[in-house]
Amino acid sequence: MTVSDLHVHSSASCDCDASIWEMCDAAVQLGLEAVAFTDHLEFKPEDPCYKRFDYAKALYTFEKARSYYDGTLEILFGVEVTYWSDIEEEIRDYLRDHQFDIVIGAIHYAPPVDIWSPADAEYVKNDHLAARRALKTYFSQVEKLAKSRLFDAVAHFGIYQRYIRTWPPVIGDSELEPCLMSALDAIVRYSRLELNAATLHMPVPLPLPSVEVMKIYKEMGGLTPIYGSDAHTPSKVGKDLGIALDVIKQAGFGEFASWRDVVRPNGPRLKKVSGDEGVSIP
Ligand SMILES: [Zn+2]
Ligand SMILES: [Zn+2]
Repeated sequence: MTVSDLHVHSSASCDCDASIWEMCDAAVQLGLEAVAFTDHLEFKPEDPCYKRFDYAKALYTFEKARSYYDGTLEILFGVEVTYWSDIEEEIRDYLRDHQFDIVIGAIHYAPPVDIWSPADAEYVKNDHLAARRALKTYFSQVEKLAKSRLFDAVAHFGIYQRYIRTWPPVIGDSELEPCLMSALDAIVRYSRLELNAATLHMPVPLPLPSVEVMKIYKEMGGLTPIYGSDAHTPSKVGKDLGIALDVIKQAGFGEFASWRDVVRPNGPRLKKVSGDEGVSIP
């Protein structure tokens, strides 16, 4: 079975030191069919990677790698964008002026809780109102992200659970469950889910999203999910693929989507091939 890892970082991301070459070599060793580089593209000054993505430089390096690995590994030029509804127009303008092979959208924040701080677990546990507000923020932002139609996939749906496991239950809650359902409905209509493998190695493995959520998505008619290792180091490329596959199989999917299912017709990959021969996907 051939697999595409469609969420990988490189040194074009401010939080990753690995070169595109190291990441590609790891993918070749694993026998992956394709890797999508989805480096961080940030639009808010408070984000550590704000204005750190250099499109021209990233594309230059990328095209060199694409020629080098031609015939061995398919690589896609992408980005992972932190979405906020209040900057949607800015994101839209940027994506109109800069072409990518794949664009994935992520919600990385859920105020008033700092979801990246394990210390906030106590806050979430003790202040139910704050916890519920954070979850509502998260789900409504995911819904808007999908409805913007700017993104080929939604990254790590449920990321708020990564460092904090003390959240109130969502499914079965009369207020929170409808928020989750609206977000999923928008993803089904306008995007697709990723199964993010970055948290599968944890002592209590955390598929993002959970099997339960993936099942609902499948029942709603969601497209085949993509697999994303979210690797920031070569050893994490293609990580826990077997477990990830098991998660989507439990939800009723047979396999992961291929790069061919998501590659953009106007991205550098197909635009280059199109030259005078017309668009073709090998
Ligand atoms: Zn992310
Ligand atoms: Zn990522």
